[in-house]
Amino acid sequence: MYANLAMYSVKKSEQSEVAFYNKLMQTDKIRFNYIKEELKDAIVNGGFILLYQPIMDITKKKVKSYEALVRFKNHNIYPDEFIPIAETTGLILPIGRYVIESAIKQIAQWELENRMCTNVSVNFSTKQFYDEGIIDFIKEKLNQYSVPSECLTIEITETFLHEKSIEEVRNFLVELKKMNLKIAMDDFGTGFTSVMFFNHFPFDVIKLDKSFVEDKLKKSKTKVFETWLLLFQAYNYIVIAEGVETVNQLKQLEKLGVDYVQGYYFSRPLSVEAIENLGFSKGGF
Ligand code: C2E
Ligand code: CA
Ligand code: CA
Repeated sequence: MYANLAMYSVKKSEQSEVAFYNKLMQTDKIRFNYIKEELKDAIVNGGFILLYQPIMDITKKKVKSYEALVRFKNHNIYPDEFIPIAETTGLILPIGRYVIESAIKQIAQWELENRMCTNVSVNFSTKQFYDEGIIDFIKEKLNQYSVPSECLTIEITETFLHEKSIEEVRNFLVELKKMNLKIAMDDFGTGFTSVMFFNHFPFDVIKLDKSFVEDKLKKSKTKVFETWLLLFQAYNYIVIAEGVETVNQLKQLEKLGVDYVQGYYFSRPLSVEAIENLGFSKGGF
């Protein structure tokens, strides 16, 4: 059992090739199993909720859309910890479907109140590639709740692009595009994707990762940032800067010509009730 734990720790780590068992690994495994059981329980008993973080139009100072972010209702365990466990255990498939259905339901609700399309983006895990029938599921839910498909954005990360062959990934994304969904590349700048990939995949939105934004806002790098933005413009992408926390960053981004930002400066992810109480206005790409 100890050897097994050591082996798992090696598999998890990207660097070391040899590991000796230590007690911490036991704690890791216990925590892993605990979270796995809590995830299973939440799937069966409705233990998740979605929070929505506004994506703001810098110049209009208005909400452009929202990103749906899943949470446990009754635990202080956060996605950075439980999503990877959901992914290794396959539980991300039912969770992913829950997120998609709830977001669509919420769009329908907001549409009823605002009479216009509020765009919501959902995170799509690379493992959901293996959820057979997921495309039909999305179609069915959009139909069921009478939500126009352009109100839903699917966020994928760079790992998604490397999960299968270019052809297979492309076919999948083209299927989504045929339905008129928006596709966003999330966490841009954290992987090693070649810009050549832009030619292969039909993105609508590029979300610049917090680390990328912070790095490129350094004085010595703003020229590089401007050049990236020119490239994104040439591809007609909507560019969103993530993780914007300060007014300084906001001003710099505005000056550089970034149109949309997401981050604690404007708002943390909020419950539906909090959004309603704040009277945030509707949005849509
Ligand atoms: P992400 O997709 O990059 O989502 C943005 C994360 O950054 C969110 O964390 C959000 O709360 C946080 N954030 C937003 N603005 C700021 C800021 O100004 N400063 C800082 N430091 N952080 C900010 P969250 O909700 O904890 O989610 C973490 C990650 O977990 C997400 O990163 C995403 O990869 C994953 N995740 C969350 N919800 C889902 C989901 O429903 N499905 C899947 N597959 N993954 C999800
Ligand atoms: Ca995201
Ligand atoms: Ca992101």
